[in-house]
Amino acid sequence: MATEQNTQTGKIGVTTENIFPVIKKFLYSDHEIFLRELVANAVDATQKMKALAASGEFKGELGDLKVSIVLDEAAKTLKIIDEGIGMTAEEVDKYINQIAFSSAGEFLEKYKDQISSIIGHFGLGFYSAFMVADKVTIETLSWKDGAKAVKWTCDGSPEYSMEECTKSSRGTEITLYLSEDSSEFASKGRIQSLLEKYCKFMPVPVVFGKEQEWKDGKYVDTDKDNVINNIEPLWTKKPSELKDEDYNKFYSALYPMAEEPLFHIHLNVDYPFTLTGILYFPKIKDQMEISRNKIQLFCNQMFVTDSVEAIVPDYLTLLHGVIDSPDIPLNVSRSYLQADSNVKMISGYITKKVADRLEEIFKKDRQAFEEKWDNVKLFIEYGMISDEKFCERALKFCLLKNTENKYFSIEDYRKGIEGNQTDKDKKLVILYATNAEDQYSYIEAAKNKGYDVLLLDCHLDSYFVNMLESKLENVKFARVDSDSIDRLIVKEEVKKPELKEEEKKALDEIFKGGLPEGMEWNVDADNLGADAAPVLITQSEFMRRYREMSKLGGGLNFYGSMPESYTLTVNLENPLVAELRSADASTEDAKAARNEKARQITDLALLANGLLKGKALSDFITRSYKLL
Ligand code: ADP
Repeated sequence: MATEQNTQTGKIGVTTENIFPVIKKFLYSDHEIFLRELVANAVDATQKMKALAASGEFKGELGDLKVSIVLDEAAKTLKIIDEGIGMTAEEVDKYINQIAFSSAGEFLEKYKDQISSIIGHFGLGFYSAFMVADKVTIETLSWKDGAKAVKWTCDGSPEYSMEECTKSSRGTEITLYLSEDSSEFASKGRIQSLLEKYCKFMPVPVVFGKEQEWKDGKYVDTDKDNVINNIEPLWTKKPSELKDEDYNKFYSALYPMAEEPLFHIHLNVDYPFTLTGILYFPKIKDQMEISRNKIQLFCNQMFVTDSVEAIVPDYLTLLHGVIDSPDIPLNVSRSYLQADSNVKMISGYITKKVADRLEEIFKKDRQAFEEKWDNVKLFIEYGMISDEKFCERALKFCLLKNTENKYFSIEDYRKGIEGNQTDKDKKLVILYATNAEDQYSYIEAAKNKGYDVLLLDCHLDSYFVNMLESKLENVKFARVDSDSIDRLIVKEEVKKPELKEEEKKALDEIFKGGLPEGMEWNVDADNLGADAAPVLITQSEFMRRYREMSKLGGGLNFYGSMPESYTLTVNLENPLVAELRSADASTEDAKAARNEKARQITDLALLANGLLKGKALSDFITRSYKLL
């Protein structure tokens, strides 16, 4: 240590010579976090001061503890000032000069994606100042009796100087001389918004200038401090002291534009890991992507990130709110994070809490649960499909809604339909529609039989139905239009009429010609009763469901690439069909007249299924007028 006129100079003790270029290079995208790091240090120093006072070690005046941010836009300097414990010259030497850091360059290279978190973890927090500043000074006075104030100066090279200074108040004042390429930070608006992003809930008041008011045609400073943060955010309070309104108010402070949430969950655990937070169920409806990534992760009230994908299961990223935990490792890669035992426990804990809360509302306030069901349905179904543990729990409180807008638990529904909807193989057949309008006639046919029909109209429902079939024993789902009503739930085997080869051929000839192209059509014959329609269009449950699932992705592409396939069942007992089958076809004209009639019949069925479009539809209209 060379001491000359009370000034100490030296080299900062990093093992990698050129730590600054490394910091600058890799942190390029995340430069703004310097402010969070410096304010976090200032907050820490303040908290330590409070602790010293609380323990009696410090007996003097604490004062009105706060952290001040002072920007001089013209001079391009930014100061972070605290009234915390400060540092003695020895401490500056130990904590600032000797950065205990081995092979920093190599490490930074390896983890450049997570760099912003690494910085804090490896005590590089303070040095992130050099991402935006050419020169940094620290002026600091320790709380300790007889301490002398010191000023540390460094211009971004590993050389620094240290000397005594005249600072007379306890604490630390850090000055950044913003570099040319970081002049964007020499703006009040920018600093205000960064402070709001990172410091909104820090536990010590963070003050940035004065509040302003509109006076004589311009904004002027008032004498009130512009305090950025709420030092006691709701999640740090006791749930027993809070009302629903408090939770809703906090929600709108977090997401000013959002609709009121449906439910909230207050998380609070301190063993075997520490975690607090509040999660909200937003109204999700079908816009899954919009709802994602709204959970904010904090570490002791310091904002860390709003992407928590690696910390909670995917479906939970649909929730909103805050999680605060010092036990989530912040310095590691995503895959390491997912394998971390604390993170696994945390994720398991949150899953359990979410299930607990939903079950509690289901049991205690069934009406509210039913009212909100349509809005949480997507979340719950997604959770059930993707998370085994959640699914086991949710089978108890998951609701099924029928086409009459009545809600049932799975267990109750099962009991309710058992009597009438069990087939000859003792399988319970659950009927559903995906669109009450489009499938109206099929729904009516089922209801006339005394069957109940569920409404499963959310885009995850094909997966959901598949999952339920695998979880519930002896249960089968069938969409109402997947077969003729008597074959949807087969109570006793009724053989289909057997047609000779030439009879089959004749049916094809009569009916197949007018069916839309680009789909696969299978013409079948059955006895559906003299009063039933002449033809019925159905779509196999299995094929349709797998096609829908393939659209959502998940390795079922094979089904997605197959053409849509339908069955046209010709009702042999219908008099019109009988007439067509025995009609004269000995001349081309006679055949054309017969086929035109058949076309009218198939077109009506296509129309009822929403399958008649474009030219076919316009031809149908022209033909109908002609027939009239
Ligand atoms: P970290 O905060 O992760 O330990 P930093 O490089 O940010 O790493 O800081 C190193 C050390 O310097 C801190 O642990 C603290 O002891 C000291 N320090 C930094 N800023 C302040 C401050 N404003 N007041 C008092 N001590 C500080």
